[in-house]
Amino acid sequence: MERSLQKRRKIGLLFLLGVGIPSLLLGSLAFRGIRNEIALEDQRRMGEHREVSRLVAELLEAEFSSLEEGVRRSVIDLDSVFPGDFERRMGELLDEYPLIEAVFRYGGPEPARVVTPDLLYFADGWSPAPGVTSWPSAAFEHFQNARRLEFQERNHAASEAAYGHTLALVTDSVLRGEVLLAIGRVQRKAGRLQAAFATCSILAGDYADVRTSQGSAVGPAARLEQASLLLSLGDTAGAASAFLDLYEGLVDKRWALERGQYDFLSAQAAQGLQSRFEATPELTRLEEIQGTFSDLLAQEARERGDTERLLLFLQAAARRIGRVNSRNVEARALVERRITLEDQGETFLTLLPIQPGAGEDGWGILLNSRALASFLGRAIQDHLEPATGEWIVKRRDGETLLASPDSVSGPLTINATFADNFPPWLVEFYQKPQSRLKFLFASSQSIYLYMFLLIASILAFGLVLTVRAMTHELELARMKSDFVSTVSHEFKSPLTSIRHMAEMLQAGSVPSEERRQRYYDVLVEQSNRLSSLVTNILDLARIEEGRKDFQFEPADLGNLVRELVETTQHRVGHEGFRVEARIEDYLPLVRADSTAINQAVSNLLENAIRYSGEARHVAVRVSSREGTVTVEVEDHGVGISSDETEKIFDRFYRVGDPLTRSVKGSGLGLTLVKEILEAHGGQIRVESSPGKGSTFFMDLPVYPERDHGQDPDH
Ligand code: ADP
Repeated sequence: MERSLQKRRKIGLLFLLGVGIPSLLLGSLAFRGIRNEIALEDQRRMGEHREVSRLVAELLEAEFSSLEEGVRRSVIDLDSVFPGDFERRMGELLDEYPLIEAVFRYGGPEPARVVTPDLLYFADGWSPAPGVTSWPSAAFEHFQNARRLEFQERNHAASEAAYGHTLALVTDSVLRGEVLLAIGRVQRKAGRLQAAFATCSILAGDYADVRTSQGSAVGPAARLEQASLLLSLGDTAGAASAFLDLYEGLVDKRWALERGQYDFLSAQAAQGLQSRFEATPELTRLEEIQGTFSDLLAQEARERGDTERLLLFLQAAARRIGRVNSRNVEARALVERRITLEDQGETFLTLLPIQPGAGEDGWGILLNSRALASFLGRAIQDHLEPATGEWIVKRRDGETLLASPDSVSGPLTINATFADNFPPWLVEFYQKPQSRLKFLFASSQSIYLYMFLLIASILAFGLVLTVRAMTHELELARMKSDFVSTVSHEFKSPLTSIRHMAEMLQAGSVPSEERRQRYYDVLVEQSNRLSSLVTNILDLARIEEGRKDFQFEPADLGNLVRELVETTQHRVGHEGFRVEARIEDYLPLVRADSTAINQAVSNLLENAIRYSGEARHVAVRVSSREGTVTVEVEDHGVGISSDETEKIFDRFYRVGDPLTRSVKGSGLGLTLVKEILEAHGGQIRVESSPGKGSTFFMDLPVYPERDHGQDPDH
């Protein structure tokens, strides 16, 4: 025991020295190599991200230049052949370049103004270039007279006539517009609604774009008046469509209006329509009008938002850009060309491609931040290999504008900004987390890893084998020592009784003949037992060493068993045993070595008797079926538990149960039976239940030459 433990330790130590330590060494080399490689890879990524950010900045710069060039070209066209096309050209710019939110002019004699897109309205106080408004003196006198007649004397007819004289004397459209407005007004006061309506129609048609000297727009005012006159005339449907037309005109920016005027007119139109819907639900085309109206409402809300934002921008631009660019007109090259404006939480990114000159406007581009961010996103996406990194475009205050489709999870590689801090954003590049395990297998150092794994598995395998072999060896040693002690015991007791009886017989001290006969019987029986034990041991040794020669010949198992049962019955009958043979008729012969089979059956019979316990009945049956002759040996003794039935055929194996242990044995009998049967091409089986008994089955193949019928009477 002690020696085997030492042996085990020695083997373990050898494994550790020969395999364990080298493999650990290799493993640590591999891990070191991989760590270096990961660091290199990190560096490579960083370089790659830097390159991507450079490319993206270049792309952005090129895009800005192209925007600036586009605006410059359009502005030059403004001064050339087709100035009338200017607005349209500018509008096309917006379609052509999604990055442009608006084009504006600034720095000239007029206040800063968005040229495109068209605004819903202008800021209050904005006045477009006023028309010629100086009255011819005769006309002015008539006009003053007419106003006196209208407001002081309330003589509508005379007043209308005086306004008529005035009209005949003026040609300027602003003045004519004002006079016509007055005529319409007195006509209404005089109750001449039809005439008033006709006057308004002239105004709405021919004077639509005229603004009075006070700055109010004639067109929409005349439309509103028309609608109200139609209402008074009882033409509800006409009034509704006039209101709708006014509202449509407002939303379509048909007239250039200031915020206050716009709000007043749009409120009037909306209110006029609403009250028509409520007052006259039976109105023809009601649903159609309502539908158009609600579409217009939605459009207005949208455009109002954009307009407010652009007005805010203009305010900021007037303050900041105006100042920046008028500071030093001479050193124009030094003037900033890209400016970020901030006002009331809004950020405006502007390019200023054309600087204002003496008496000339400058031109600028307001960039669409959202479109710019997605332009950047696309550019990054196009250049960055998706497997190598993720990115975020952030504002300076940390707010994320756009990020790569996969969420960011790896460490930051670089932080990129743009030239002149324009746009004032940050692009952060992140490393994609790499699976270290994947890296391990993919890297060039992986050969170490594979070797490590190989050696480790050999080590583990070897250890398992060793442990198993040693356990087996220990078990065998235990069984051998058991064997030696049981076998010597087995030898000792018959030898003792043989010697004892032989001595008594020799000394002539056995008195009666009958007694002497008993002694002879016992002597024969004990020596038989000894010889069978010796035969078992020798035969097994011979078979296992391959030295045993079987003499196969046709054998009649019926006869063999019958004789064996008879001698056994004779031997054990006096102990109260009944050994019974049931042998089928017409058994075929089997191919067998009779001596060996005899030994096998007698081993089974012997076990049946020895492990019978209190039971005293053993049956042996011989039967044939489908080319096999089977010998069954059945007892009603101690039985074997199911987990032992396989093991009992192993060498030296003996069931640990105390009932069985009380019987002396070597653990070799069944092993021999099994070996003999296997040599015959047959097999041994057992069915058993503890406490109830066991049946062993020996199957032997029939003699192949021909089927020998066996006459029982033969
Ligand atoms: P042994 O000399 O110990 O009987 P065997 O190889 O003949 O050796 O049997 C192996 C073991 O199988 C026995 O120790 C016993 O435990 C069990 N065994 C064999 N035959 C029987 C049986 N008929 N009934 C119960 N147990 C049996």
